Amino acid sequence: MYSPEISGHQAIRERLRSRVQEDRIRGSLLFTGPEGIGKRRVALELAQRELCFRRNACGQCEGCLLFAGEDLPFELPNLLRITPEGKAGVIRIDQIREGLDSNNQPRFSRGVIEWASLSPPMGCHRWILVEEAHRLNQSSGNILLKTLEEPPQGTHFILVTHRPEALLQTIRSRCERISFAPLAPGEAWAVALRNGWQEVDHDRWSALGEGSLRLLDEAAFRRAEAQVEAWIALMGGRPFGEAAGPLLPEKDSNLAQGEQLRQPLELLLRLLADLARMRAGEGPALAPWREALAPLASASKDLKPPQEATLEALRHLPRNLSPEPLIRELALTLGA
Ligand SMILES: [Zn+2]
Repeated sequence: MYSPEISGHQAIRERLRSRVQEDRIRGSLLFTGPEGIGKRRVALELAQRELCFRRNACGQCEGCLLFAGEDLPFELPNLLRITPEGKAGVIRIDQIREGLDSNNQPRFSRGVIEWASLSPPMGCHRWILVEEAHRLNQSSGNILLKTLEEPPQGTHFILVTHRPEALLQTIRSRCERISFAPLAPGEAWAVALRNGWQEVDHDRWSALGEGSLRLLDEAAFRRAEAQVEAWIALMGGRPFGEAAGPLLPEKDSNLAQGEQLRQPLELLLRLLADLARMRAGEGPALAPWREALAPLASASKDLKPPQEATLEALRHLPRNLSPEPLIRELALTLGA
């Protein structure tokens, strides 16, 4: 469920708020920064303030209630949300051109470019939020380009992404970039507490989440935790068939298989970096796993080959690869 509550990012939010009030935003914005830290919520807050009866995103009034509830709507009087669709998770050209969803049904009242060309409702801007903007493909990106550069008066695109390098360069260069930092550990944990997390999980949740709210969902957290433990087991010489289960994609996930590999690969890189840190006499960033990592850090295994292999795999996370051979190959580079 979407909750409009926001933690952190005070300075950015205040600056944006006053720029909006004084009409000092020109053109399109690109919000970048780690995944799951609330970039999208900051963008939504701009739209919510304008629909709020009290004009402060109070969270209580009828205007604000449009932003709460089970599912955040895709279209509001001053907001259009463009999100990746379907199993492949891309933003397709007919979503932009005709405003269709993945079943070719109308998602918006009209195409995005046409929507953007209307004058904003009284006292509002038109906000067009492109979520996971790295999912624009060549053709959908290109159709946005012209409008991105000079959106009509009072209309602003906000592209949100944790992978700006995957955007078309032409898109990046037409937007003003606003970089978000991770949340402070206390800010992230305060949100976790409000979502029912318990102190007993604090250390592992905070270490794995790195100032993000990606792991607010318990299943997501347990999975990340199991993946760390699976890599440690493989590095310790446990057989692939016994240990590798949590690293392999889930059949019923709505993420493509290749995309599901991103998290375990990134976790492996973090573990390898921690081993290097421990060899240099420092503590691991994944501190709750210090004891499990200690014997691996003192072994003389070369960390470069698995690091290189993992980076290479991340660079080429193709859409339809067979994940098991890839994980098996990486496990081999880790083996004693
Ligand atoms: Zn309100």
